[in-house]
Amino acid sequence: MEYKQAFSNTCIFLSEINDPGKVASYIPELGSVDPTKFGVHLTTMDGDSFSHGDSHEKFSIQSIAKVLSLVLAYELEGEKLWKRVGVEPSGTAFNSLVQLEHDRGIPRNPLINSGALVICDFLVDHLKDAKQTFIEYIRKIANNDSIDYNKKVAESEKAHGYRNAALINLMKAYGNITGNCDEVLDFYFHLCSIEMTCAELARTFMFLANDGVDPFSKERIISTEKSKRINTLMQLCGFYDEAGEFSFKVGIPGKSGVGGGIIAILPEHFSVAVWSPRLNEKGNSYKGMRFLEMFNQATDSSVF
Ligand code: GLN
Repeated sequence: MEYKQAFSNTCIFLSEINDPGKVASYIPELGSVDPTKFGVHLTTMDGDSFSHGDSHEKFSIQSIAKVLSLVLAYELEGEKLWKRVGVEPSGTAFNSLVQLEHDRGIPRNPLINSGALVICDFLVDHLKDAKQTFIEYIRKIANNDSIDYNKKVAESEKAHGYRNAALINLMKAYGNITGNCDEVLDFYFHLCSIEMTCAELARTFMFLANDGVDPFSKERIISTEKSKRINTLMQLCGFYDEAGEFSFKVGIPGKSGVGGGIIAILPEHFSVAVWSPRLNEKGNSYKGMRFLEMFNQATDSSVF
């Protein structure tokens, strides 16, 4: 089926279903979001775009931002980065501590919290005025100066971020954090608080559908080889302990966040962002997962 028809059929179907998911409440500021929000935006390499519902409303992209911090750190550090963080799916929850002790402070991958904290430590160490430099980098990739942190969300998470504090302290004890834990946590909470609309997210991630080059501005963000590897990591690790299920049912690289957003990319074809704040028991947007499964099935979209 063609994209346009499949997009509108799937959106209409999902607007009417009963959503059993629950909004993340462990970050109080996220708990106050309207749970009925539902937005979708798809941008194709041909320049077409399809939008539905609340696709132009900003939301907290949370862990989706971990892909962008990884892109910058990988570009700066190259393959040496993998000495400090692995490339294996974790099969555990995003904020799990269990493997970290077993693996002596080396996180399984950069898309779970522990791995993202190592990437943040690297960026705080290598960037001058890290928060400002990083947001300017995102604005450049997004082609959009309105992208910003949500200070209230960052503060709310800081006030309740006990598990992230535990993760970073454990890694510090193993010598895998070079900087000051509070400073790195502050950068991490800001990273997670970045807000975008579905339309902005889909646009921002187009470079990963095009071997590292923004297809509209023609600017290279990352090398072809690295772009493929970032997609590989999303394919293997983008949905924590539901990554296998996502690969099995959806078949393309993607990344979720507890704000209810999901970004997914079919290389050479499209980038699609979905937002629906109610999460399934693995912490991924219930409707977001359903949308991608249905849409990809209808359009025969898969990297396999
Ligand atoms: N900021 C969230 C946390 O650290 C990110 C988790 C997520 O989006 N999965 O818990």
